[in-house]
Amino acid sequence: MNSVIPIQVAQKEGGSPAGSGHQISQERGQREVFCGLTGIIWLHRKIQDAFFLVVGSRTCAHLVQSAAGVMIFAEPRFGTAIIDDRDLSGIADANEELDRVVNQLLKRRKDIKTLFLVGSCPSEVIKLDLSRAAQRLNVQFNPAVRVLNYSGSGIETTFTQGEDACLASLVDSFPVGAKTPAADSKARLKKLLIVGTLADVVEDQMQRIFKNMGIEGVEFFPGRNSKQMLDIDDNTVYLLAQPFLADTAKRLDARGASRLPAPFPLGVEGTSAWFEAAAVALGVSTQMCDQALNAPRERAQMATAKHKRLLQGKKIFFFPDSQLEIPLARFLSNELGMQLTEVGVPYIHRQHLAQELELLPANTVIVEGQHVERQLERCEKANPDLVVCGLGLANPLEAKGFTTKWSIELVFTPIQGFDQAGDLAELFSRPLIRKQKIAA
Ligand code: SF4
Repeated sequence: MNSVIPIQVAQKEGGSPAGSGHQISQERGQREVFCGLTGIIWLHRKIQDAFFLVVGSRTCAHLVQSAAGVMIFAEPRFGTAIIDDRDLSGIADANEELDRVVNQLLKRRKDIKTLFLVGSCPSEVIKLDLSRAAQRLNVQFNPAVRVLNYSGSGIETTFTQGEDACLASLVDSFPVGAKTPAADSKARLKKLLIVGTLADVVEDQMQRIFKNMGIEGVEFFPGRNSKQMLDIDDNTVYLLAQPFLADTAKRLDARGASRLPAPFPLGVEGTSAWFEAAAVALGVSTQMCDQALNAPRERAQMATAKHKRLLQGKKIFFFPDSQLEIPLARFLSNELGMQLTEVGVPYIHRQHLAQELELLPANTVIVEGQHVERQLERCEKANPDLVVCGLGLANPLEAKGFTTKWSIELVFTPIQGFDQAGDLAELFSRPLIRKQKIAA
């Protein structure tokens, strides 16, 4: 196993559910998606004292480096311990090699407080048990450095599942508190937790709105500090900020927390309903909630209105990629007047997306899973004005004359909340404006 390959990153880190009335069909076939390693790009920006060590091949290292896409001059907070031929053939002991790489890294980088060992296809193929490796390394390094592990492997995953696996591993690391007796738990105040990686600027805006609603002490998970220890129990209620956190939610539920059913905070409609769900659960009056939401809501409506002039009536087609497709389709249809030709989604979590599905226009065509050739044929037939797809499909589609939007940009860019609604709309209007300019 080679030493850590530093990766250069930017310095400036910048069948249908009842009642929905949609045509949800399922497809299986060749898929065109990135693996969960991609999540490291936005996770390392958020969790500012963690290091993500991919235990993988040169391909894995290149994937993460191209997803990062830009150069920096500072010490990176992710890298790859390369599994080479000697590890694959069993000549070298992969565990010993990994320990050596981790020792080298942690000796040099005293700023690291949590080390994530991130599994990949190659580490899974050689059956390298990273949970045992993490246990072993914790004996050596904890409490100065905590070592956790999760899988970012590409087998049967989409790229956003890396975040889910990472957050699930963090939940497992929280201490299990004493159970609150049922009678007592009712008397205690509920604690609100926001779950899903949000840019710091979005987190700060949301925290201000919660304060204006009279809700104090809201915690955001993951936090900026990797040693954030959350006390999850029967008094915890949580709102998901991202639609791809099935395993994390399961872990929180197992600790006694309850998810507040809500749409996702994208656009004016989704963000309003998301905050309102918190208000209802925490006993905030409608008047107080409206007072806190009115001004940012009006600003967001004004910011999206100028994009509506361009986007209204335009046809959009989604290839399955980020799992954000359904909330985005709802925003683009309901607030910007776009026509949904097909909404492809890698996987639909029926409970987490129930409110979103209710808000979509009746009879929206939704396809779960992927058969890329068939989908490309349908896309050509639908002849949309804009196609949302992964990087692998964007260039061939552009070459055929389609205008595309990379779905990965929607995860790298702050898009949640009222103050980002205009920017979110702009992500879809910009490619159309560019096309108009080229044609002029
Ligand atoms: S984890 Fe698997 S899919 Fe992802 S880059 Fe490595 S080999 Fe490729």
